[in-house]
Amino acid sequence: MDFRDTEQQAELRQSIRAFCATHCDSESEAAREQSEQYPADLHRALAAAGLLGLGLPRDYGGGGLDLLAQCIAFEELSRHSGAAANILFINGVCGALVAAGGSPAQREALLGPLCAGELRFAFALTESEAGSDLAGLSLTAQPRGEDYVLSGSKLYTTGAADAHFLLTAARSDAKAGPRQGISLFLVPADSAGLEITALPKLAGNEIASCRVAYRDVQVSSDARLGEANGAWSWLMLGGALERLSVAASCLGLSRAILDAVLAHAAEREQFGQPIGRFQAVQHRIADMSVRIEAMQWLVYAAAQAADLGAAAQRQICSAKLFAAENAQQIAQDGMRLLGGRAYFSDNPMQRRLREALLALYAGGTMEIQRNLIARSLGL
Ligand SMILES: Cc1cc2nc3c(=O)[nH]c(=O)nc-3n(C[C@H](O)[C@H](O)[C@H](O)COP(=O)(O)OP(=O)(O)OC[C@H]3O[C@@H](n4cnc5c(N)ncnc54)[C@H](O)[C@@H]3O)c2cc1C
Repeated sequence: MDFRDTEQQAELRQSIRAFCATHCDSESEAAREQSEQYPADLHRALAAAGLLGLGLPRDYGGGGLDLLAQCIAFEELSRHSGAAANILFINGVCGALVAAGGSPAQREALLGPLCAGELRFAFALTESEAGSDLAGLSLTAQPRGEDYVLSGSKLYTTGAADAHFLLTAARSDAKAGPRQGISLFLVPADSAGLEITALPKLAGNEIASCRVAYRDVQVSSDARLGEANGAWSWLMLGGALERLSVAASCLGLSRAILDAVLAHAAEREQFGQPIGRFQAVQHRIADMSVRIEAMQWLVYAAAQAADLGAAAQRQICSAKLFAAENAQQIAQDGMRLLGGRAYFSDNPMQRRLREALLALYAGGTMEIQRNLIARSLGL
């Protein structure tokens, strides 16, 4: 396997680096996080740079790029901006599901505006009693004439407070099996009966994760994405995209940490010499580099396998598991190697440590990745 960038991939990398140099310097990132306001300017800038719909069909204004190129985009954005990567993550997954499962009318109405940054989305799956066990979700969608009425609540729906549509998984057939009775709905965020409450969190409060109460929210059957009661396969597709995106983001975040550590090891002097001359420091940095190399191979290989149409679930789960766990170690090593300054709010390292933790949950926990890998091995 040869994972040197093609000309097109190298151009993509360069264009994202140029984008980040303009929009995502570390002062802007810190200011965005402190503001706790949705970064609408960043969202618009991502759209203007053609980055929002990278994986969406060209017919609808997207970039039509394969998964490997999308991973490169997540990697490069995550080197600089958790917020930018998160915007791409949420809207990219929702857009991919609309592209794959939506009617021609839904694709026409939603994908162009998504790519142009005019419509924002949030993905509402998790509930208080249905986290890892997604098939246990209980928010109901009851048919009423031509419409559906949604009742229940969702948790941690990221971006909901600033979205135009909440792509919502609901139980539309209580009698069917847990995976058979679920439908997806594009719920307009201004629907009567919807109550959205931001929940303060450890990092990324500028894109709030929310509790969403659905109190008899009426949506037309045109708002249903795909067949009634047939959403499970779309949820699995969304899960795979989430895992790959999170793994690629861990790769970018880890590279940013290594860059910062290398610069610090060369500059910081103690006992009359740069700390990078101490073998203990060198070894820790060497281990970081090995983890990042392995992460890159797992992420790129999983993306390429999926691009080639292979059944790539095990590879995607392996990439997500390895990347998320090693990003924790790399972030902790970054904290150690920068010394006490890493602990202070003006240093980006503490933000990277907090951002790395999200990878333990987004796209499913580590135990769930291991369960899926074990199942794919026939266990
Ligand atoms: C910052 C943030 C943003 C999020 N954004 C969104 C969003 O936009 N939309 C959305 O729908 N969700 C979102 N989530 C939810 C996320 O997907 C869930 O947190 C995740 O799926 C885990 O579910 P849970 O938190 O309920 O944990 P639980 O399922 O309660 O798990 C608790 C522990 O039990 C373990 N466990 C559970 N089942 C098993 C098992 N079978 N075998 C072994 N161990 C097991 C887990 O691995 C974990 O360690 C977000 C979460 C966070 C933290």
